[in-house]
Amino acid sequence: MIHIDKVYINGEFVKPHGTKILTLINPDTLEPIGKVTLCDKKDAAYAIKSAKEAFKTFSKTSIKERAEILQRLHDAMSRREEELNAAAIQEYGSPITATRGRTRFAKNSFLTIRNKMNKFKFEQILEDGSKILKAPLGVTAAISPWNANYTHICQKIAPAIAAGCTVVCKPSEYSAIETQILCECFDEAQLPKGVVNIVNGIGEEVGSYIVKHKDIALINFTGSTKVGREISKNAAKMIKRTILELGGKSPNIILDDANLNTAVPNALKIAFSNSGQACHAGSRLFVPESKFELICKMLIESLQKIKIGNIYDEKCYIGPLINQMQFDRVQSYIKSGIEDGAKLLTGGLGKLDGFKGYYTKPTIFIHVKPSMKIAHEEIFGPVLCVFTYKNEEEAIELANDTVYGLAGYVSGGDLQHAKKVAERLFAGWVYINKGVYEGKGVIPHVGAKQSGIGINGIDDYLQFRFIS
Ligand code: NAD
Repeated sequence: MIHIDKVYINGEFVKPHGTKILTLINPDTLEPIGKVTLCDKKDAAYAIKSAKEAFKTFSKTSIKERAEILQRLHDAMSRREEELNAAAIQEYGSPITATRGRTRFAKNSFLTIRNKMNKFKFEQILEDGSKILKAPLGVTAAISPWNANYTHICQKIAPAIAAGCTVVCKPSEYSAIETQILCECFDEAQLPKGVVNIVNGIGEEVGSYIVKHKDIALINFTGSTKVGREISKNAAKMIKRTILELGGKSPNIILDDANLNTAVPNALKIAFSNSGQACHAGSRLFVPESKFELICKMLIESLQKIKIGNIYDEKCYIGPLINQMQFDRVQSYIKSGIEDGAKLLTGGLGKLDGFKGYYTKPTIFIHVKPSMKIAHEEIFGPVLCVFTYKNEEEAIELANDTVYGLAGYVSGGDLQHAKKVAERLFAGWVYINKGVYEGKGVIPHVGAKQSGIGINGIDDYLQFRFIS
């Protein structure tokens, strides 16, 4: 069993001052797979000091130097791709095919940003000779969730490096093995010392300390809306810049003219992506009242075709939930749906038969009312709520009736019409006639309402200054 007892700060692997130990459990087998020694505030302070020192020189590096670093990071991750996949599967039970996609996306984010940086104007001269200077902001923080831990870290580190900023990163404490491999990649890529510093630790202690620290200029956070709200509040005290990528309760509208043979299986893929532990999960399905019975029948048939378990199998789509806490959380939502009077089309309470790990039954609720907790709170597990609508206006209204605005999905036969409906969904990304979320490599992060703020681009990491 691996014991991660060092952290990567100031370009070296050092023993943390913190002494708390967290045991990492494989959610599929329930076997302990590792231990991590967690950092404390002293370690976070050391990481911030190192990043501050490194900023003095890193902020003055050339675009060419930073482009080379981004390339080296991509190359180092490519060499460790299989190990990163294995760690993510082991640590949070993510099925193999989804894991591979996220790892590719993580390493490619360095090249995507490098290409953007090469075209980026860090200085603009106006007609009257005045100048707009875009200077690196300073020491920045990156805080990531356990689902796609290293993907989020890479997506945050890439624009920071492109802009000439340094980073203190607080990864999810549940993803320590993934983080360890990532740190080894940083080391292999010969990152200048102090440019990226990692502190494994508890969010309320170490994360919160970093957020409140006077030397942190920007906080780039991905995680729940609840924690995002807390971070926002703390950042506001010093008017710090924040980029927040938060939770969702995304709608999926099946229009009257949709091809149900594709729209219904797609609806399940969208809802149960990453075992339902996906921020972009289309967990609210809106179907025409006249097709309700037929769609229910097709949902059950389609679910029977989805492969559950054996997360190393290429066809597996649903794996376990990450831990007991998440399992209990999902169970409590299923319980509340039943108590509030929603009807189970399939699934329900309890563990899925035949599995050892944290497998919850993929669950579909019908007769869900918008006032029910399951209808408007993010569950983060394989639980789908089905609603009926009388006409399209009602469907759009119900779909937008949420505090979230992360993603949206529309299926329809007439593409031009489906596009019009898609444009009326108030969400960051809206996909038409697609069953798989395609990531955000080509576009910036654009979560709306309580799903986020900021675009996670190079601009975010720069201070614009006007010199006339
Ligand atoms: P979480 O909010 O519990 O934790 C996220 C990170 O914040 C962890 O590293 C945690 O240790 C840290 N943290 C906790 N309290 C903190 C505090 N007070 N100050 C600073 N840091 C703190 O989320 P999670 O359970 O790890 O991840 C699941 C959530 O992430 C879901 O809500 C999901 O929708 C969201 N998510 C959003 C996106 C997106 O792109 N919008 C992507 C992935 C996940």
